[in-house]
Amino acid sequence: MAQPLNPSDQQRQRIVIVGANFAGLTAAQHLGGAHAVTVIDRSPWFEWLPNIHELLSGVRRPAILRLSRPHLIARTGHRFVRATVAAIDVPAAKVITADGRDFGFDVCIVALGGVNDTFGVPGADRYALPFKSVDQCHAIGRQLAMRARRPGRLSVVIVGGGLEGVEALGEVLRRYRHRHELTVRVIEGAPTLLPGAPPALDAAIRARCAPYHVRFHTRTLVTKVTKRRLFLNSGETIPSDVTIWTGGATAPALLQAAGLADRSKQWAPVTETLQSRRFDNVFVIGDAAALPRPISKQAYYAIQMGTCAADNVERALTGQPLRPFTPSAKPMLLSLGDLDTFLVTGDTVIAAPALAALKEAVFQITMPQVDPPTGVRASQGLTARFTTAATNLALPTVLSREALGRVCRLSILRRPGAA
Ligand SMILES: Cc1cc2nc3c(=O)[nH]c(=O)nc-3n(C[C@H](O)[C@H](O)[C@H](O)COP(=O)(O)OP(=O)(O)OC[C@H]3O[C@@H](n4cnc5c(N)ncnc54)[C@H](O)[C@@H]3O)c2cc1C
Repeated sequence: MAQPLNPSDQQRQRIVIVGANFAGLTAAQHLGGAHAVTVIDRSPWFEWLPNIHELLSGVRRPAILRLSRPHLIARTGHRFVRATVAAIDVPAAKVITADGRDFGFDVCIVALGGVNDTFGVPGADRYALPFKSVDQCHAIGRQLAMRARRPGRLSVVIVGGGLEGVEALGEVLRRYRHRHELTVRVIEGAPTLLPGAPPALDAAIRARCAPYHVRFHTRTLVTKVTKRRLFLNSGETIPSDVTIWTGGATAPALLQAAGLADRSKQWAPVTETLQSRRFDNVFVIGDAAALPRPISKQAYYAIQMGTCAADNVERALTGQPLRPFTPSAKPMLLSLGDLDTFLVTGDTVIAAPALAALKEAVFQITMPQVDPPTGVRASQGLTARFTTAATNLALPTVLSREALGRVCRLSILRRPGAA
């Protein structure tokens, strides 16, 4: 049942934001001090997820991809609470944390993101390594390095051939492709890698990987995972020393429990103004939201939604009409380690290793926007990010002849309407 806001309320309104990564943090940063804003997240770190695949090869370190969340929220003037949210009781208008505290709200902004989905495949939760956070990717990087130190065969299996799976593949090849006896297998249920992207991209990735021991199993599902093997629906059994699960993300159970979604694993349906379809005083943003017209689950959309939700919350609380969220189309940048980088916009794919600089620029420009460098600490962070990028990403490219040859290559794989 929809609960109307009370715009005439002269008291300081209480806004609780649940989840503070791209969407929730942006909303917090755009909400003014007129309201009592509480931001709850279970982790003390803001994490820059679009580059976490680089932890697999070690070209990026965890500290470079993280910012202190208490520090970021303190700068907004709002209150940060580090806690796991156990329930959102909308009829009672309170958020309840796992440690038994509750936080009353007039408006709640839900920005919980998604959770790893292993689709009930036996053994996947136990033996396949998830790929959704800095800690998880760092753990995969350590596992790869440990296995690679041992002599003999190294067999890596990546489950999922979407954006995350392909970027993971690129990092494994960046670090280990010259190692003898490395075999990488990518398992994807769809007929091509990166389902939904232009087919030329699938062909280009396969071509870049052709010199190495990489096998792509498309139209294939994993039916069981054990410590050293994967069983496929084709009847094949494949060995695996390290199994990386990039296979899927699904909605957190909290959404259904709060009545924001009807079914388990359903993203919370919202109106075009980002209000929950069930409750007017709840906004759902970022990956957790199911928009009337679906969009891909991407960080830049989460950021845009955070800005829009903050504006709409202010409007709702002051009795003004809400504005619709209008996502602005952005091209997708996909890196295949140091082998190539692809820019996908509509039906056009541009392949050029030099595009890695563009992907790096997105990171270098956006991180200081999240944490503007005013103090010593933020300036140190900025310097550290630039130094790591220069030594681990730029210098190896400039100093190696093989890499230089690659960097100068650019190809347009397909234009709209081209034969
Ligand atoms: C490997 C990988 C690569 C990606 N690459 C790209 C890319 O190149 N470009 C791009 O645009 N996007 C990329 N994405 C997608 C992008 O990261 C997401 O779209 C974005 O993170 C969504 O932001 P969000 O704020 O909605 O959710 P999230 O970033 O997932 O944040 C959710 C927050 O909620 C908190 N939370 C969750 N549950 C609870 C709870 N019960 N209690 C308290 N806190 C909780 C979490 O700690 C987290 O801080 C990638 C994602 C991954 C995993």
